[in-house]
Amino acid sequence: MTAPNMDVLVSLSKRRGFIFQSSEIYGGTGSCWDYGPLGAELKQNIKRVWWRDFVQQRADMVGLDASILMHATVWKASGHVDNFTDPMVDCRECKHRFRSDQLDEMAWLHFCPATKGNKFTIPAGEPCKHCGATRTLCPHCGKGELTAPRQFNLMFKTFMGPVEEDAAVTYLRPETAQGIFVNFDNVLQSMRLKLPFGVGQIGKAFRNEITPGNFIFRSREFEQMEIEYFVNPNDRVDGRPADEAVHDQWIEACRAWFVRYGVAADNMKLHEHDTAELAHYSKRTVDILYRFPMGWSELMGIANRTDFDLKQHSKFSGKSLTYFDEERKEHIVPFVIEPSAGVDRALLAFLLDAYREEEVRGEKRVVLRFHRELAPIKIAVLPLLKKRPEIVATAHDLRARLARQWTTVYDDTAAIGRLYRRQDEVGTPYCVTVDVKTVGDREKNEAGDGRVTIRERDSMEQIRVPIADLDTVFARLMGETAWSEVAAAYPRAES
Ligand code: ATP
Repeated sequence: MTAPNMDVLVSLSKRRGFIFQSSEIYGGTGSCWDYGPLGAELKQNIKRVWWRDFVQQRADMVGLDASILMHATVWKASGHVDNFTDPMVDCRECKHRFRSDQLDEMAWLHFCPATKGNKFTIPAGEPCKHCGATRTLCPHCGKGELTAPRQFNLMFKTFMGPVEEDAAVTYLRPETAQGIFVNFDNVLQSMRLKLPFGVGQIGKAFRNEITPGNFIFRSREFEQMEIEYFVNPNDRVDGRPADEAVHDQWIEACRAWFVRYGVAADNMKLHEHDTAELAHYSKRTVDILYRFPMGWSELMGIANRTDFDLKQHSKFSGKSLTYFDEERKEHIVPFVIEPSAGVDRALLAFLLDAYREEEVRGEKRVVLRFHRELAPIKIAVLPLLKKRPEIVATAHDLRARLARQWTTVYDDTAAIGRLYRRQDEVGTPYCVTVDVKTVGDREKNEAGDGRVTIRERDSMEQIRVPIADLDTVFARLMGETAWSEVAAAYPRAES
């Protein structure tokens, strides 16, 4: 497998319409990203399968879409106003700002006294090979002293209403979770739920990160897919306290979900938070790390938040946020397990894992081996000759017909070999080619056979399929049926 470096992916993403830098014509922001036509499809697909698998298909889950702007007290109660901070340091020379807890994870610039002050960029955490020094100064300019760390709140402040005064201050939500906690009772009562149950939500979150970077890995505006799964801590599951057993179940469900949609199992590993790392509300937190180009980093986290949030909101709002345990005839505050994933980080992992550089007949082929459900385009309809009106008309008709069910494009802007490569590069699993044999040749008095060629992306195999069969064939291919099984029923075409 060829793991691309981030630059390769950034360039492919821009060239092929996946991801653009926000406000690029004004020099870009560097901390926000725009999803282009294919990126928007890919992102929608990720969110759609997540919602389907975790919210719609489970009897114990419901969905929610809470607002981004909330009552300011929500963030006081949740602890974000006081605790949602990162330690920040400044360089006294170049004025760059850093998270002090990330300094050792950065490559650093060094003017080496042992080599007459020559400038070197030294890998993160390593000493200088020539003089043995370790980093003490600013990693960016290599000259400035760093200030002592001070806590910086990551929430974006804004004002609700037309008056910019303290009374109107609120925040852009830094996580979607709190929208679920404050609606706990609304959801419980309106849906008549019984524990255990979960509430899923997908939406934007905003953090004024000190050092955004690594492409879409860390940005200031991003999207989250979060679940708050409520359990009765007095229940036992598999002989263990329910919250602990259910926590393990969710860790495995999340890991398996990424594998199901194409992330190689050995590109992920679990990271258990130790006491020093554990958030103040958490009994146990496990991160799923992914092997990103900059090293193992958090893809998502699964935390046992206990009854902290419901108790806090109950305390600050004066409203009871309890559940009546019929069996024990008592009111309890449920514990909550929170699987929290970033849509953008998931998308980055799916992109990285799908990326392959292969050699085909002496030429390099770049292919994104996306899972068919994630692929932004499912089918590309390509005319072999764009000068033949019957071929073009048939291809347009086919595109319109297939587009009723699947994301389908028509492309006639290059020769067929190049069109195939373009579709490979954006991960389109199937191409349908209309050629002379399909429509026949009137001048030669030859009738068409009414068949088209279907080409599969990964094997590059081609089969001839009657147009009348296309809907059934694609319904099977987009479902669980393997290409080899479908292909076995049809004659092979020359590639
Ligand atoms: P990190 O340690 O990387 O800052 P975190 O532990 O603060 O992340 P959580 O608060 O657990 O992150 O948020 C849940 C998920 O939301 C993360 O696992 C990640 O996928 C996503 N996420 C968090 N911050 C960002 C960001 N700035 N940009 C993109 N995704 C993010």
